[in-house]
Amino acid sequence: MDLLTLTLKPRWGNDTVADLIVSASFPAAAIPSEPGKPELSYPEIAYGGRCPFPDYEILALTDDLGDMPYHLDSTASFYDSAPCRGIFFERPANGTLRWSTRLLPRILPEGYQSSPYFDFRAEPLGLNGCGLFAFILPQTGDVPLLTRLDWDLSEMPEGARGIWSFGEGTVEKVLTSWQVRMTLFNTGLMHCFERDGLGVYWFSQPDMDVAAIAERLYPIYRYMKDYFHDTESRFRVFLRRDPFRFSGGGSACPYSFISGYSAYGGTDEAHWFDVLIHEMTHTWPAMEDPADGDSAWFCEGCTEFYSTLLPYRGGFLDAEATVRSLNDKITGCYLNNRYRLTPNAELPAIQWQDLRAQKIPYGRGFLYLANVDARLRRLGKGSIDEFVIPHDILHPSTQQEWVDFVRAKLGESGLREFQDMLDGKLIIPEENLFGPDIVTVQSEVELDGEKVISWHWEVRQK
Ligand SMILES: [Zn+2]
Repeated sequence: MDLLTLTLKPRWGNDTVADLIVSASFPAAAIPSEPGKPELSYPEIAYGGRCPFPDYEILALTDDLGDMPYHLDSTASFYDSAPCRGIFFERPANGTLRWSTRLLPRILPEGYQSSPYFDFRAEPLGLNGCGLFAFILPQTGDVPLLTRLDWDLSEMPEGARGIWSFGEGTVEKVLTSWQVRMTLFNTGLMHCFERDGLGVYWFSQPDMDVAAIAERLYPIYRYMKDYFHDTESRFRVFLRRDPFRFSGGGSACPYSFISGYSAYGGTDEAHWFDVLIHEMTHTWPAMEDPADGDSAWFCEGCTEFYSTLLPYRGGFLDAEATVRSLNDKITGCYLNNRYRLTPNAELPAIQWQDLRAQKIPYGRGFLYLANVDARLRRLGKGSIDEFVIPHDILHPSTQQEWVDFVRAKLGESGLREFQDMLDGKLIIPEENLFGPDIVTVQSEVELDGEKVISWHWEVRQK
């Protein structure tokens, strides 16, 4: 297996990380050579213009023959939602390719208050970012690479740490180049909560008791990794201090996520706890997303399903808290959303302009999957666990496998229900979706000036 090495060298300045030097190596012969395709590439900007690759300079690019002449140009995207830049070599490469870049932390545009959190940002005492917007990599497709990431902390203060999604210090992991891009890293002088595979890391002290929240999260994490038969899993949470008021979002990568809080305070602890559970749950229910957003109904919907129901079934959250969550995630995000009849395929085009559209796949997928799960259980045909548990975010399912699953379990009606969900047909909740203590209540809501049917959930009165 070909070895990709990455060494991250953060350099301290002005009480934070001033820049990061990323040095990489890879065998030249392992880079697929196709006319018109660059040898190395990166996304320029993604997520509707919200997430740019940071300002950088190429410090060196060599192979066994010496300096490699190259030019930069735009290139066909390896990633649907992002225009990409390529580094095109001007002679054949030989031996081991080595390249290093110096990245500068992003300076946020005026008035910026946004996510996703994959951009490359420093804050007092440290810096974090995502491989997608920090690493320039060969385009090696789905080929697994032995990836070795390590840190050079020689220009950091005493006590500084460097942590990657998959561990601290020198870590080796077999990953495709896309999976290397979808990793998070965190470096600086940090606080932490670390127990039995769960790690939470933050620089300055937020206006909430992070360690206390991590204590509450820990048993749910334990319960979930047992539930999904993934007992060896590790999970890391990196906190980011946003220099704007509206914060509190999160962005997930395999086995890690990054979460924002506002430097101005006002953190809603209960909401943040929910976000933590949601993002942690992303580790397991996974489906390939060939065109950006195609699988959001599953990736987000199924994550909502388990992140809401497992803490309830496991006894960590009561019916009242769960009902609040259901009403927020299904009624609020989907049933009472003006885009509730918009087909899935039309959502990506509008979702970054109107965040209400972005929430549809979460609630729609959740209710659809809850319906399928309830029907399977009622018919004695198992549950959606059978489909979900064999996969995780590094080994995602495919939409075709889901089609095969519902066809095998539920026949034509299962297929029709799936197609209806994709087409945006209103999903009517099955009875007794969430156990004996939670009742489904029909109601009416006004959407675009029209009264329409909706549902919410209540705790059963004893
Ligand atoms: Zn999510």
